[in-house]
Amino acid sequence: EEKKSISFVEQFVEEDLAQGKNGGRIQTRFPPEPNGYLHIGHAKAICMDFGVAEKYNGICNLRFDDTNPSKENNEYVENILNDIKWLGFKWGNIYYASDYFEKLWEFAVWMIKNGYAYIDQQTSEEIASQKGTPTTPGIASPYRDRPIAESLALFAQMNTPEAVEGSMVLRAKLDMANPNMHFRDPIMYRIIQTPHHRTGTKWHCYPMYDFAHGQSDYFEGVTHSICTLEFVPHRPLYDKFIDYLKEMDGTADKLQDNRPRQIEFNRLNLTYTVMSKRKLHTLVDEHLVKGWDDPRMPTLCGMRRRGYSPESIRNFIDSIGYTKFDALNDMALLEASVREDLNKKATRLSAVLDPVKLVITNYPDGKTEEMESINNPEDDQSGSHTITFSKTLWIERADFMEEAPKKFFRMTPGKEVRLKSAYIVKCTGCTKDSAGNIIEIQAEYDPESKSGMEGSNRKVKGTLHWLSVDHCRKAEVREYDRLFNTENPSADERDFRELLNPESLKVHTNCYVEDYAASRQSGEYLQFQRTGYFMADLDSTPEHPVFNKTVGLKDTWAK
Ligand code: ATP
Ligand code: MG
Ligand code: MG
Repeated sequence: EEKKSISFVEQFVEEDLAQGKNGGRIQTRFPPEPNGYLHIGHAKAICMDFGVAEKYNGICNLRFDDTNPSKENNEYVENILNDIKWLGFKWGNIYYASDYFEKLWEFAVWMIKNGYAYIDQQTSEEIASQKGTPTTPGIASPYRDRPIAESLALFAQMNTPEAVEGSMVLRAKLDMANPNMHFRDPIMYRIIQTPHHRTGTKWHCYPMYDFAHGQSDYFEGVTHSICTLEFVPHRPLYDKFIDYLKEMDGTADKLQDNRPRQIEFNRLNLTYTVMSKRKLHTLVDEHLVKGWDDPRMPTLCGMRRRGYSPESIRNFIDSIGYTKFDALNDMALLEASVREDLNKKATRLSAVLDPVKLVITNYPDGKTEEMESINNPEDDQSGSHTITFSKTLWIERADFMEEAPKKFFRMTPGKEVRLKSAYIVKCTGCTKDSAGNIIEIQAEYDPESKSGMEGSNRKVKGTLHWLSVDHCRKAEVREYDRLFNTENPSADERDFRELLNPESLKVHTNCYVEDYAASRQSGEYLQFQRTGYFMADLDSTPEHPVFNKTVGLKDTWAK
């Protein structure tokens, strides 16, 4: 048996364990900002953060990175928790960066007192204009060397209801010539007067990501802070702030002890969609989709509603692996993973999406038979249900051709086909309206050919699904296509909204499903035989069943 090679992240972890770092303790965290819903990119980070903790008998905590009240709220917190549970992971503790506001404030004050930070009263434009470039040094702020007492007083003022947003910031006094731009006196605190979803109006200024993230890791005792590649250039600053923290703690002589190690891996990018929260917000806010859980969205709630299983998402993430290079992963690979998993799980049903009538002319009027339909041939435990057969049926319009080429193994006059779980029938003809549209097809059945009887054993090439006209339900089927027309919308110069596929949603209202299907609920994996995988939508009711097409049976995208 081939042993799966471990990721470079796991290699780092094993090295640290071998060196006895952190006393052999492994602690990771997943740090979402509660400013939107989780998408499949987050799932990749979740699989890594929880996976490492599980594998090395450690713990993975959740930490909501809630340092920007203007974009965050509790609805997002609740949905993030729900999505992580759905994916199948169990967290240790739930923490909030806002739990550390007091500690971070004290640390910032300590930095000012030690000459490591100052209040800058320039505008953000002025500050930006002084940054310089990676090859030319920046310009020092005129406030850089102001007296410590002045900065302390102004910092206190920043945290009052009167403080005007943008009027001042707290900056670390690092190195305006450092080739790493993050060292050019990064902003530590800014004024935000929007009330915070947890701390209300207690605070009026808030720490920036770089002044909150590493410190929060340190406060919690995180051993491995795993994140995505865009944080590589932040790592020296991450380490620098922790050095300062250790100096404040009096553990500066043991700089390498008990400190989190940041490790970066590549983000997940998928073809034909976008993963940026800002863009996803735009899609929702401008009603370009029906909401965060629109089945076309790359969000976990959208994928759940569409019918993707958590296992299919995890298997997909496992299959693409973790690297040090950003790439674009093919959506078709995710869909293949969905198919593979749903094949094992989905209940097989009959649904006719584009119906035409088929009359079995030699079948007795008014007679019905209950045919046994196996729920899932891939699963012995899945059992069966019954489907009613009668004289008048619906079949798919595409399953009939009046004049068919040789290789057409569906219904055509003079040829036999099998009706799934029922009889072998021979087509005898069809009826058209004045415009030439086929309105009815006729066939004769062989009473000896019932499924399971000996007469059913002869070779017939085609097998069709069907429904009894008087024993089925009208249903709505929502079929989805790519959300965007271009493979990599994020790399396109045009506004991403112009790249949306106007035909990403097709609603079919003239569909029929067997009675058994009408009572299926969101969360049950279904296969409409010969058509694809489906799931009842959240809007579905037994009176008005609505189904989402999860994915077709085959990859129709392969060229
Ligand atoms: P955006 O940049 O779109 O706002 P974000 O990365 O800021 O997204 P967070 O809520 O901060 O969103 O993300 C939480 C964690 O998930 C972070 O550690 C981040 O690195 C990770 N993450 C976000 N997007 C992806 C992705 N596409 N692939 C892998 N990990 C991701
Ligand atoms: Mg963000
Ligand atoms: Mg973030």
